[in-house]
Amino acid sequence: MATTSRQIELKSEKDLERMRRAGQATAKVFTELSKIIAPGISTKELNRLAHKIIRQIGGYPAFLGYRGFPASICASVNEEVVHGLPSAKKKLRDGDIIGIDIGVTLDGFIGDAAYTYEVGSISADKQKLLNVTKKCLQLGISKMTIGNRLGDISYAIQQHAESNGFSVVRDFVGHGIGRQMHEEPAVPNYGTPGTGPRLEAGMVLALEPMLIAGGHKVCVISDGWTVISEDHGDSAHYEHTVAVTHNGPEILTDFGSWTLETGT
Ligand code: MG
Repeated sequence: MATTSRQIELKSEKDLERMRRAGQATAKVFTELSKIIAPGISTKELNRLAHKIIRQIGGYPAFLGYRGFPASICASVNEEVVHGLPSAKKKLRDGDIIGIDIGVTLDGFIGDAAYTYEVGSISADKQKLLNVTKKCLQLGISKMTIGNRLGDISYAIQQHAESNGFSVVRDFVGHGIGRQMHEEPAVPNYGTPGTGPRLEAGMVLALEPMLIAGGHKVCVISDGWTVISEDHGDSAHYEHTVAVTHNGPEILTDFGSWTLETGT
């Protein structure tokens, strides 16, 4: 494997082939889950279904057992930011938003993605939060071109979030990804353009803007996992595993819920 001086692993074309398959396996789980997200279903049931689909595909849920996490997906509702622990008691209600984060290991490589869904009909404030967070991810991805720097991605995300009145979480960040879920480099959702490592073909990053309608501070609740916003503001989270290539950014976990806008 090739590495840069900062130990960012550059994936070979053969590695990328396998990462595409892991990414598409991850995407498949989102496609299936999106069909059943509705008022009344519990986050534990979503977890059970996701686990079943991942195993049927021949993959393994990358989160299960990771640092002791006891579930196959993270399901974070409303003020829950990330790492929401699925529970039979947590049933979705009309007007909720639910961020689902899924990692799939397939043939030695990992795909990692997150998407925040509307449950029934949501408020205009929540819709704006979802739209802005999704756009942050699109803008971040659009900066993943050869020769740009890591800080260009971070800045694009932060600038769009804050100019729309939302804050970006500081305690959790995006990351390099490949054979391991968390590889170098860390990809903060805040930063300074023109700083950090230069992007090279073969770098694969999981970009994951996490925005809050309120202050950026977060804390962990008594289940030991679920991270919530300290002031209980709603939170949204979108994530894709993306490769830097000679043809521009390639979304490995794409599941067709949007089109990447270029030139922004
Ligand atoms: Mg991630």
